[in-house]
Amino acid sequence: MSGHISFFESVNNYVETAASYTDIPKGLIEQIKACNLVLRIKFPVRVGEDYEVIEAYRVQHSHHRLPTKGGIRYAESVDQDEVMALAALMTYKCALVDVPFGGAKGGIRINPGNYTVGQLEAITRRYTTELVKKNFIGPGIDVPAPDYGTGPREMAWILDTYQAFRHGEIDSIGCVTGKPVTQNGIRGRAEATGRGVFYGIRECMRHEEDMVKIGLTKGIEGKTMVVQGLGNVGSNTALISQREGQVKIVGISEREGSIHNPNGIDVEQLLAYRKSNGTIIGFPGTTHIGGPLAALELECDILVPAALENQITAENAPRIKARLIAEAANGPITADADPILQANGIMILPDFYINAGGVTVSYFEWLKNLSHHRFGRLENRFHHDQFQGFVNTIEDMTGKKVQDRERAFLTRGGSEIDLVNSGLEDTMITAYNQIRETFKAHPTIPDVRTAAFVCALKKIASDYVSMGIFP
Ligand code: GLU
Repeated sequence: MSGHISFFESVNNYVETAASYTDIPKGLIEQIKACNLVLRIKFPVRVGEDYEVIEAYRVQHSHHRLPTKGGIRYAESVDQDEVMALAALMTYKCALVDVPFGGAKGGIRINPGNYTVGQLEAITRRYTTELVKKNFIGPGIDVPAPDYGTGPREMAWILDTYQAFRHGEIDSIGCVTGKPVTQNGIRGRAEATGRGVFYGIRECMRHEEDMVKIGLTKGIEGKTMVVQGLGNVGSNTALISQREGQVKIVGISEREGSIHNPNGIDVEQLLAYRKSNGTIIGFPGTTHIGGPLAALELECDILVPAALENQITAENAPRIKARLIAEAANGPITADADPILQANGIMILPDFYINAGGVTVSYFEWLKNLSHHRFGRLENRFHHDQFQGFVNTIEDMTGKKVQDRERAFLTRGGSEIDLVNSGLEDTMITAYNQIRETFKAHPTIPDVRTAAFVCALKKIASDYVSMGIFP
């Protein structure tokens, strides 16, 4: 809940604001906003000598493109409204980055930390069985993926359970994405959301006139960043921004609290420290400044909330000092905090754009699964040999020798990870520039979030129109 309205209502409010900048008929907007299918499941799991009733959901928000797509989260916050809001965000996210899926989301209302691995496996397999029974999963129906509290391990259990029911179905490996690479996953999926966050921020900061407006200089290099949450998304955003963008990470928070070092925190060493000590507090060179929300208020150029929703509220929004906020988590800013940040001249890169890297690479994984071959396998050596030929010819023609390092770079054939990262980079850059052009073309659109919703709505509406459902 954010203020007086629910998470799902707040997503729909953003949609309605954006709709007023389009000429999409009201009835079509109502259809786009609606959650098409909501499945609520209760099932028992054995805990010790007793049983516990587990509450779970799968929501398919839109069917204008199939399959529907979205993660499954394991968290105590899971309820119908949360899953509906997250499923809706998946619809707009997929449309924005041209991933041809409808939006969906799943959730199980548990704290995974309270269960053994065996119990989590039993819960995951039973949940998958319920989805199979209701025809809520399949490579052409609805394709889950990881989200908060789940990862490749859970996806492997889902695949195995699905295949037990659908033995012999040739495309069954495409029933879930985010699988381990050894179990029909794809290289680069695990870090894709964080990598996409980095590409999105970098692209945004390339535009000097936009950066000047928020009091920053052009370019991500050398900027300061604070990251809330060191889960998959937060840790990869911090690591990649530091390594590939020369960003200085000055603050980090986790559930145990927030740490600060204005001279920069080495994220790789911090992750190793947390692994052996179970906490980020006490990491050499840093000051413990308070609870998990404290880091949000630090002086910095870029703030990356990468934990859960409702972290920046009307209460702490006036104290946020960052100039640019990248919503790596879904819904980290409440509806009543958003205008406060905007009024303070802070630019917000909305969740359904900036964290779309995960579903983008899920799409690549699904394509790989349906094509039953690894990207690059057929053409890698062919291109390598062809490029060697070019380099040899250049050497013959110029009489000069190309250095070994340059030769290695120029003659790369394109392996799976190269192709995945390049497809991801291109997707994030293209989507950002679509949003930016929409923003610039309509001077009355108030912010980037509204501009992004306008882009997404137009694409979804045109799908319905081309299906002949709406005139
Ligand atoms: N859970 C991720 C998201 O919120 C990924 C979804 C997917 O890969 O399908 O975007």
